[in-house]
Amino acid sequence: MIVVQGFEDQQIGVLGLGRSGLATCAALAAGGAEVCAWDDSPDSRASAQAAGVRLVDLTRQGALDGLAALITSPGIPHLYPAPHPVIAAALALGVPVDNDIGLFFHTLSVTDWAPKVICVTGSNGKSTTTALIAHLLAEAGREVCMAGNIGTGVLSIDLPGEEGVVVLELSSYQTDLARRLAPDVAVFTNLSPDHLDRHAGMGGYFAAKRRLFSEGAPARAVIGVDEVEGRFLAMQLGDGAGDSRVVRVSSGQKLQGPGWSVFARKGFLAEWRGGRQAASIDLRAIAGLPGAHNHQNACAAYAALRTLNIAPREIERGLHSFKGLPHRSQLVAEIGGVKFVNDSKATNVDSAAKALQAFGRIRWIAGGLGKEGGIAALAPHLGAVAKAYLIGHSARDFGLQLGSTPHEICDTMARAVARAAAEAEPGDVVLLAPAAASFDQYPNFEKRGEDFTALVQGLATR
Ligand code: ADP
Repeated sequence: MIVVQGFEDQQIGVLGLGRSGLATCAALAAGGAEVCAWDDSPDSRASAQAAGVRLVDLTRQGALDGLAALITSPGIPHLYPAPHPVIAAALALGVPVDNDIGLFFHTLSVTDWAPKVICVTGSNGKSTTTALIAHLLAEAGREVCMAGNIGTGVLSIDLPGEEGVVVLELSSYQTDLARRLAPDVAVFTNLSPDHLDRHAGMGGYFAAKRRLFSEGAPARAVIGVDEVEGRFLAMQLGDGAGDSRVVRVSSGQKLQGPGWSVFARKGFLAEWRGGRQAASIDLRAIAGLPGAHNHQNACAAYAALRTLNIAPREIERGLHSFKGLPHRSQLVAEIGGVKFVNDSKATNVDSAAKALQAFGRIRWIAGGLGKEGGIAALAPHLGAVAKAYLIGHSARDFGLQLGSTPHEICDTMARAVARAAAEAEPGDVVLLAPAAASFDQYPNFEKRGEDFTALVQGLATR
């Protein structure tokens, strides 16, 4: 656990008692702070109390008087669409509002020795890139701790030793609120609309992510430049095209200027520096990273490791042993020449589009709780779809939007898997990439992916 420094004997409020909130309470208490914690959910309060956390109803009038800071969880709106009432009260009183990421960097800033920290943000591919960076570092013999949005609260890690690296996945909610951000290397994967209600639109969303670079002032920045926002960010951070503070990354574009770049084209990764090619890697044979979107992740992770002077051949070896993350373009079985791929994390149109471009002939399982606009934006990406098998709340709406693409309303995952498997021919890929949230039929996308996987495994044992 990180022992949070700088708050000894001070009263600190903690709002939100999920995994990261509980870790925050423990890390603050270990540093001598007096923690008073609250969560709107009685269940979360009960489990926090059982873990020894002191509960104080922070929604009560006057409850924030005397607080030195209020630490909140990423799921709690701090600004838009409206701040949570406790945060609004803190803002009115001038109580500093921060999160565990801010406390982490604050603590590192007053610690004698600190490990290198790599932070990853962006709209898609954060978790994959974060896990890949951690994997590549471990394969290169470095001690690694991975935390943040990927699941482990950053304050629950133990800092690695000398030469060790902390790799953090950060969401826009986290970068927006953290009062201190100080990564050594910061990575921006890509940008597409998401969570716009929490950021009052696209400008606010980009601004939240940009804080990692503007406030964080990383020594090196790895920037995906396939959207205009990434190009803008790279321009602003670098001192002209030849500046090697910024490594530009692309999936598809040749970036052969005078600066430092890593790009993937036709399945090959290329590193260019100072107008010359420095390395090349064949990505096509890397089973854990299928598709152009994963090649973008591979380029970003490769670039991050190169900023730490790890050799291209060493990185290449690590790429081959990366298994991929569950629920992201994950090959779960191959039965009779048909591959079954679980991309349950494709909860939005952008990530589903990437999955649909990553494979040949696709039997596509889609649907759930569709987002605004449904799947209209996927029309240009349906070329490889032999047939769609539609499930959940949006099945019929998605069917209407599919037009002439063959489809069948299956309603349930069980039926969709059975129908897709029955109709698939050798060489086909049965792909779960729902382009929708899971909450109509499952508690979360993980459970949806597990259901798909279990059903596929049932086919395999038949
Ligand atoms: P995040 O943590 O940003 O949500 P993940 O690695 O969990 O990213 O991937 C989320 C979804 O996006 C998955 O469906 C995955 O297959 C897809 N995806 C992964 N990398 C990319 C990328 N670089 N661009 C677009 N989509 C991606």
